Amino acid sequence: MTESRPAAGREPDPTCLFCRIVAGDIAAARVHEDDAVIAIRDIAPRAPTHVLFLPREHIASAAELTTADGPMLGALFGAAADFARREGLADAGYRMVTNIGQWGGQTVGHLHVHLLGGRSMSWPPG
Ligand code: 5GP
Ligand code: ZN
Repeated sequence: MTESRPAAGREPDPTCLFCRIVAGDIAAARVHEDDAVIAIRDIAPRAPTHVLFLPREHIASAAELTTADGPMLGALFGAAADFARREGLADAGYRMVTNIGQWGGQTVGHLHVHLLGGRSMSWPPG
């Protein structure tokens, strides 16, 4: 994060799956929404609880973040931690992870943090 201003090109992308979910054009099971962030249940869960937290704004990945995104990121991680407490995951622990690019395992090019919980996680990820 070397720049304080958001990069250009963050307008909604009509070809982006998560922009279409944010807009309500594609249905998703929403578990949280605020001014900056929404959270949806993953369509192919990899754990008993698997929720995606994403900015409303189109940001391609965490590689595009700047210091100006601090408030959005605080809202995003705060919403995820609140959700984990509500779901009863907090005591046992859980994982938050974001994938970047092909080798990172990213398949949707709109920033999202996976919240995975309800089972023990291995390390390192595969
Ligand atoms: P990534 O692979 O980019 O880290 O994560 C993308 C996630 O989005 C995957 O876990 C995938 O199951 C989920 N996903 C893909 N399409 C949809 C969809 O249409 N609705 C929802 N709710 N999740 C989706
Ligand atoms: Zn998008």
